[in-house]
Amino acid sequence: MMEKQPGPVWVIAEQIDCRILPVSLQLIGQARKLAVELKASLETILLGDQMDEQIQQLFAAGADCVYLGNAPDLAYYQPEIYTEIIVKLAKEHHPEIILIGSTAMGTELAPLVAARLDTGLTAHCIDIALDDNKILEQKIPAYGGLMSITCPEKRPQMATIAAGVFLKPELDESKTGEIIPLEIPDKIPGRIQTLEIVREESEGVPLESAPIVVAGGAGAGDPEGWRKIADLAETLNAALGSTRPAVDEGWTELETMIGQSGKMVSPELYIGVGLSGELQHMVGIVGAKVMVAINNDAKSPVFEQVDFGIVDDCREFVPVLIEKIREYQEKKVTC
Ligand SMILES: Cc1cc2nc3c(=O)[nH]c(=O)nc-3n(C[C@H](O)[C@H](O)[C@H](O)COP(=O)(O)OP(=O)(O)OC[C@H]3O[C@@H](n4cnc5c(N)ncnc54)[C@H](O)[C@@H]3O)c2cc1C
Repeated sequence: MMEKQPGPVWVIAEQIDCRILPVSLQLIGQARKLAVELKASLETILLGDQMDEQIQQLFAAGADCVYLGNAPDLAYYQPEIYTEIIVKLAKEHHPEIILIGSTAMGTELAPLVAARLDTGLTAHCIDIALDDNKILEQKIPAYGGLMSITCPEKRPQMATIAAGVFLKPELDESKTGEIIPLEIPDKIPGRIQTLEIVREESEGVPLESAPIVVAGGAGAGDPEGWRKIADLAETLNAALGSTRPAVDEGWTELETMIGQSGKMVSPELYIGVGLSGELQHMVGIVGAKVMVAINNDAKSPVFEQVDFGIVDDCREFVPVLIEKIREYQEKKVTC
């Protein structure tokens, strides 16, 4: 009996202000590997306004085909319209797999699409691969290790994946592909409309590109303890990161959270202060070169995962460390 040819692998590309986000290219790079294994084509959906010039990047990253929705109404992400377009296309073309970035857009759009297609979705995957039966293993941190989630019955198999989980593929500018323009109705009905995007001015050094990251956790204890950790980051000209409890306590913004549901960072130096090294946080720093932890519990699991450990109360140790760093910095300037 002839084996059934799997449907295409899809990546939903994302743009902001006509710029394709790096996560879309990273996902195309990984999706290319899946498509080769499945002997399927790799297709991308790009919705926006005046996006023609950006398409080449998607081909260069590995896409065979781009469904392009170009219309003023699509310039900003519109949940209902985007869902409608993707669901209609998926019903026509039966993708095997759909990958979406775990961005603000992706984490909303993916469940909307999955629900309409009556299929499963794994959010915030930190790895994906095909098993021996060519089923997508969608890996997330759970129960102190990695858990593989599969969706063997329903199609498409859907996953969201954060920026930085996969590297951007090498771009092959000579590669081209097929562009399939989508017919977008003039006026698309929708109860929710994005009218404009207002950007929050982010303070300090951006986390994703920072050479040094200082991350604080529940061990900060209170806003005053947190301020000391933030001061350490400032003194080192580092980006400030956090664990979930620090965000939940309101000491810092969600944008600083590192890990499975937060950002992925790969600094030269990572300093974790008052945090326990839970996998959901640590998956966000796998790319860090040198890791240091400050924790008052010598038995904390964080010490098994870092290069250097300091057992001390961070509320006492951090101010002293800041003082020493400042002395060193001043000495360096006067030398
Ligand atoms: C689906 C899911 C997704 C998640 N995603 C994320 C994510 O993306 N990022 C994330 O961070 N978390 C995430 N979490 C939460 C995660 O599981 C942990 O609960 C969290 O990372 C723990 O944060 P923590 O280490 O700050 O707190 P704790 O685990 O409470 O650790 C606090 C540490 O501080 C130490 N300490 C206490 N007082 C002091 C002191 N005075 N000086 C020094 N050390 C001190 C303690 O010894 C302890 O080791 C997620 C959880 C789930 C279920």
